[in-house]
Amino acid sequence: MSKVYDRVEWGFLRSVMAKMGFPLRWMELVHDCISTSTLGFIINGKVLGEVVPSRGLRQGCPLSPYLFLLCADSLSCLIRNSKKNGNLLGFRCSKGSPLVSHLFFADDSLLFCKATVGSCEEIGRVLNVYEKGSGQMVNLQKSNITFSPNVTQGMRANIQAMAYRVRSGYRLAMKERILEACSDPSIDQRWWTRLSNLNIPPKVKKFIWKCCYNVVHSLSNLYVRKVAGSILCQRCQKGAESVAHAVWWCDKADLVWCKTAFWGRLRRFKGLRCYEVLRDLAEGLKKEELEAVYMVMWGVWLDRNEDLHSGRCRPAAALVDWVVGLLKEFRRPEGPYSLPLWLLRLLRYGFRWM
Ligand SMILES: [Zn+2]
Repeated sequence: MSKVYDRVEWGFLRSVMAKMGFPLRWMELVHDCISTSTLGFIINGKVLGEVVPSRGLRQGCPLSPYLFLLCADSLSCLIRNSKKNGNLLGFRCSKGSPLVSHLFFADDSLLFCKATVGSCEEIGRVLNVYEKGSGQMVNLQKSNITFSPNVTQGMRANIQAMAYRVRSGYRLAMKERILEACSDPSIDQRWWTRLSNLNIPPKVKKFIWKCCYNVVHSLSNLYVRKVAGSILCQRCQKGAESVAHAVWWCDKADLVWCKTAFWGRLRRFKGLRCYEVLRDLAEGLKKEELEAVYMVMWGVWLDRNEDLHSGRCRPAAALVDWVVGLLKEFRRPEGPYSLPLWLLRLLRYGFRWM
């Protein structure tokens, strides 16, 4: 299980206690103990802000391990129930010894079953019920299957394929996430200095920074956190929606970039990772051009959100005009030039790159 304490649902804990026959007064006392905590953030050495949690147990509180045991016991009950119904057969150490179906130690769990597809499906079902009810989550990165030497190669392959189907969606999203994130500190420093010197609104800078570190809420990223059910792009249905896909390669994004002078250049970057494209753009473009590209990226992302949440999006040309207008507004107090026309021309008819 992953992050067991943080994920305990209070309502679930209360139901477990009720089922176990704790009196109401006890349940209320326990609820008061766990629900009166607040969380603060230490930023630059100072405690700032206050968050009131709605689930989870306090780390370090002497009561927490016992409350967690109550939660874990419900998983034990589910498994015992399956065993009783004959859906899950345990494992015998020797002839005549009792059947062992599971061993738990803190948040580590060992489950034993007969190597049949039916048993594996039953384990999957039990874990699913437990995850949904308790808020707990199996840590797939740390999970493993081991077979006894008697299990045939054919059966091993069958069971592994089953487990793979469950994990593959997750792995794909995980791989996407790791590859997408910037990991080269030297690129990072140069690129960051360049970004901070640009004359664009801070919210756009922040968005670009988030793209570089792959912390934008694209479907791939949300899928990894189990917030989204699929990584398939909802706008074009043509592939996983990574950050790069959403802002550059999606058909809908492409329509917008067509209206700018950067379309040809961007096409040459197709297939590169998000931070690689950002790095190459930063090294190949003049300051004003880079500002325009970042503004359009931000605009495309906003439009994507609008499209997904309310089904509305701006026509491509209107979107480009809109971000140019925003940039113009942003620069107004400082720039003596009539930037809008100049920038509009650059964006829409601009320099030839090819
Ligand atoms: Zn798409």
